[in-house]
Amino acid sequence: KVLCATGIIAGLLAFFWKDTFNPESLSGARVLLTGASAGIGEQMAYHYAKFGAEIVLTARREAVLQKVVEKCLTLGAKKIFYIPADMSSPSEPEKVVQFAVQKLGGLDYLVLNHIGVTHFQMWAGDVEYTRWLMQVNFFSYVALATAALPTLEKNRGSLVVVSSLTGKIPTPFTTSYSATKFALDGFFSSLRHELIMQNRNVSVTLCILGLIDTDTALENTRGKVHLTASPAPEAALAIIRGGATRLQEVFYPWWLQHMCCLWVLLPNDRDQVLRSYYNYSSP
Ligand code: NDP
Repeated sequence: KVLCATGIIAGLLAFFWKDTFNPESLSGARVLLTGASAGIGEQMAYHYAKFGAEIVLTARREAVLQKVVEKCLTLGAKKIFYIPADMSSPSEPEKVVQFAVQKLGGLDYLVLNHIGVTHFQMWAGDVEYTRWLMQVNFFSYVALATAALPTLEKNRGSLVVVSSLTGKIPTPFTTSYSATKFALDGFFSSLRHELIMQNRNVSVTLCILGLIDTDTALENTRGKVHLTASPAPEAALAIIRGGATRLQEVFYPWWLQHMCCLWVLLPNDRDQVLRSYYNYSSP
């Protein structure tokens, strides 16, 4: 009964959500997108380009960014620039935002998507790696958002933060990664409250993704999980729609939302069920 009711509600929400998304609202929208050289970020760049947005892309690899830029131009991007930056360096986030504001004359969307190299393995005690990953996956998000808030506020803009199911439900082989994603939820969901309390018109959209078929995710999880990966272009579109319609949270695939609810409602045996999706042999 619970599943049936939640299914009906989800169907109605999906119908309503579809209706409220207006692709034309993105024509001329000024977007700063991180992690744009590969995977979901690259796919987001192509969608924004098709919608006629003005875009600044960032990631570390300049040659790859150039290729994405070229394709975006063929797809219809109104304006497009790129800036190579390594988000493990604390000085980069502010530089990147300054560059984007200078090139586009302001920002309507800040889409935070990059992640540092992720090891999909059991905890082996590398504290320094966890510290580094926190810098790339969390502190740089905080710094980018902080630097962009004034221009986003001026333009009634949107902050879009890409997270993961492992930022809502702890899963094996993801200790440090999961910690960075839980931190994003804590910080940005608290920030959302504060912006609303201060009548500052910046929306905050947290995107909860399941396994997506990007090269890095498939390589990391091969042989280790019994899960089917969803397509990156669809995930990218779900994120963009969620940001454009100012949703508080986006779940992709959609049923992850129910999984999160059931996780809280049915605490008995849930951990054992979850572990059954992972390949491992105990010593
Ligand atoms: P990819 O590994 O495919 O892409 C990561 C991007 O981040 C690349 O553009 C990479 O470019 C950039 N990047 C890597 N290191 C740095 C760095 N130090 N500084 C700046 N940029 C960096 O990731 P996905 O597309 O798979 O993931 C995108 C988002 O989706 C992430 O937030 C991830 O957590 C989330 N997600 C993905 C899932 C999946 O299954 N794919 C599942 C759940 C969530 P470059 O190497 O050029 O720097």
